[in-house]
Amino acid sequence: MSTGSPSSFPEIREAVRKLCARFPGPYWRALDRERAYPSEFVQALTEAGFLSVLIPEEYGGSGLGLGAATAVLEEIHRSGCNGAACHAQMYTMGTILRHGSSAQKKAYLPKIAAGELRLQAFGVTEPDAGTDTTRITTFARRDGDHYVVNGRKLWISRAEHSDLMVLLCRTTPRDEAKPADGMSVLIVDMRRSIGQGLTVTPVRTMLNHATTELVFDDLVVPAENLVGEEGRGFRYILDGMNAERILIAAECIGDAKFFIDRAAAYAKDRKVFGRPIGENQGVQFPIARAFVQMTAAAHMVDHAAALFEAGEPCGTEANMAKLAASEASWAAADMCLQTHGGFGFAEEFDIERKFRETRLYQVAPISTNLILSHVATHVLDLPKSF
Ligand SMILES: Cc1cc2nc3c(=O)[nH]c(=O)nc-3n(C[C@H](O)[C@H](O)[C@H](O)COP(=O)(O)OP(=O)(O)OC[C@H]3O[C@@H](n4cnc5c(N)ncnc54)[C@H](O)[C@@H]3O)c2cc1C
Repeated sequence: MSTGSPSSFPEIREAVRKLCARFPGPYWRALDRERAYPSEFVQALTEAGFLSVLIPEEYGGSGLGLGAATAVLEEIHRSGCNGAACHAQMYTMGTILRHGSSAQKKAYLPKIAAGELRLQAFGVTEPDAGTDTTRITTFARRDGDHYVVNGRKLWISRAEHSDLMVLLCRTTPRDEAKPADGMSVLIVDMRRSIGQGLTVTPVRTMLNHATTELVFDDLVVPAENLVGEEGRGFRYILDGMNAERILIAAECIGDAKFFIDRAAAYAKDRKVFGRPIGENQGVQFPIARAFVQMTAAAHMVDHAAALFEAGEPCGTEANMAKLAASEASWAAADMCLQTHGGFGFAEEFDIERKFRETRLYQVAPISTNLILSHVATHVLDLPKSF
């Protein structure tokens, strides 16, 4: 099957596929049952250098562009694996790279690239703010050479499996600044924080995602861990969101390919009424439709990644790519389950697991409605509803 940019980064794709072959379905099924973290898989990706493709060479990474990172994540997902255990490192690192001081970059980036430090956690969402990030209330009060942080975050993934967290909090109350101002980004050293002002509680979900709730109770964070300027944190986080959306979209393309590969193979093999089910157009057309939808979305992902790499504005394209890719992966998931009949529900086929996993992407990291709202008001100039 050839889609998107079939010739882009063939060596990377081949190497990722080889690595993923060491982590087949039974590995993921066992973790899924226990809701356990895929430590060996993440370690293997780290050692192979795939998680540091975006870190510049001067800091020990490969210095490649976003297109290479999309190839890595797409292949992981196409192989039936899941990059969600570690994908955040790719885009969260960008906050430090773009806005951190030279001391912060030197202190963190080489160690992240070498796999000595894990920067997997990204703390934005709060239970009472939802998508309206300007309503976050987790507050960092400056006290001499440190900040004292109080508040709550929800859905903070990989917090238990990360050495560092990029945390967005308020440093000025919302009513004392413009809503998007007065927020700041802190680098939280999880090793020194958990149990010392930070409590992490796992939240069990319908998929294996290592997500958690965080409670900050007078957590002390050194002032030197402030990224960039105080009060400008929301802009720094927004800067990273285009990369995040494009990378997640690539995972969706990988998922869609996984479902299409599996469905096509099964439809050729499974015989009912004395012939392969794939001979029936009622079975083959949904597979073909999923392929068309995925291919269109893959081109959008490539386009958004190319704009990002060229340093062009790409907020709308990143959002549209994410919407199109998440809908393509969900349509492919539904088609694949249907193609497999009852066997689609059996754990050993991995379809039901991937089905649950790919559903997330219509909600996180940004929900479909919020993307539609962006397109409606920013592109089509329709009246704003909020
Ligand atoms: C498994 C998982 C992992 C996650 N990991 C992280 C993480 O690591 N770090 C992090 O910071 N966050 C994380 N999140 C949070 C995720 O980004 C949010 O769940 C997502 O952005 C949606 O926000 P919400 O859940 O608060 O939904 P809400 O904002 O409460 O919205 C609920 C629903 O209402 C709709 N809606 C809301 N307002 C409007 C409107 N004005 N018009 C139309 N529709 C609207 C939304 O589209 C959505 O469907 C994770 C979430 C999950 C489930």
